[in-house]
Amino acid sequence: MSPAVHNASFRALGLPCRFESIPVPPDGLDAFIRALPASGLRGLAVTIPHKCAVLARCATVAPDAAAIGAANSVTVGEDGGLAACNTDAPGALRALAEAKVAVAGARAVILGAGGAARAICWGLLRGGAASVAIANRTPARAERLRDDLARACGAERRIAVIPAAGPALAEAVASAGILVNATSVGMHPKTGESPIRREFLRPGLSVLEIVYNPIETRLLADARAAGAVAIPGMEMLLWQAAEQERVWLGVEAPVDEMREALLSGLGRSL
Ligand code: NAP
Repeated sequence: MSPAVHNASFRALGLPCRFESIPVPPDGLDAFIRALPASGLRGLAVTIPHKCAVLARCATVAPDAAAIGAANSVTVGEDGGLAACNTDAPGALRALAEAKVAVAGARAVILGAGGAARAICWGLLRGGAASVAIANRTPARAERLRDDLARACGAERRIAVIPAAGPALAEAVASAGILVNATSVGMHPKTGESPIRREFLRPGLSVLEIVYNPIETRLLADARAAGAVAIPGMEMLLWQAAEQERVWLGVEAPVDEMREALLSGLGRSL
């Protein structure tokens, strides 16, 4: 959805810019980067499988991207020099802030330990969360994330790895203020799935979904039905896209127009 979202913003701002998808094969990153100076490209939104590999090709890496171990945004300087940063963490924090969810002092449970989970865990720790418990289908990946984050921000006492199901997860969610789905469970076409049992959800819990297709996931519906605050994945997507435009172009992106483009791109109207 990124072309629809960014192009809606450029139109609204009257900027002579265009955002397009460029497929770059796994072994094609170096050739793509060599061709950048002549390309006219000012910024890159980097996605799978290049988010980690691009770091080593950038002259400047923002501390957040270095700590997370992945960049999703790259600015192309006039001399072709690249600067990497990660806008997923500020996007998630802004989505929480817009829903009036306080991160400082909160206990958080993160489902997932992939690239998005890395950025969100880092953001929550930097935002002052009291604790972050990581639950992932593959425990070794969660343990790697815990160790990397502990090294990067010295917060080992605030980070735990917990089982992805069962009483330990139920207990962690029962004492948490924030639950994040950072897995792809619930994503189209498997829209009937949820990463967590409905009875774990309750009033007082804020649920940040990161899946944005569909906009209303099973998890969001379950959270609302249980009286929890439900924050759709498209909010994180929009706020991280706005942050990308600030980084690439120094502009304040029109998030309402971008949201409208995203909704109509996903087949729904406001
Ligand atoms: P990733 O690095 O591939 O990680 C995927 C995560 O989902 C892993 O933790 C994986 O667990 C877990 N997972 C996948 N299938 C599962 C299943 N059937 N049961 C339990 N866990 C499962 O992907 P990513 O980049 O983190 O992206 C994850 C999702 O977030 C995608 O849907 C992506 O579109 C979305 N996303 C949204 C935004 C936004 O702005 N809203 C930003 C970034 C990503 P294992 O480690 O066990 O494989």
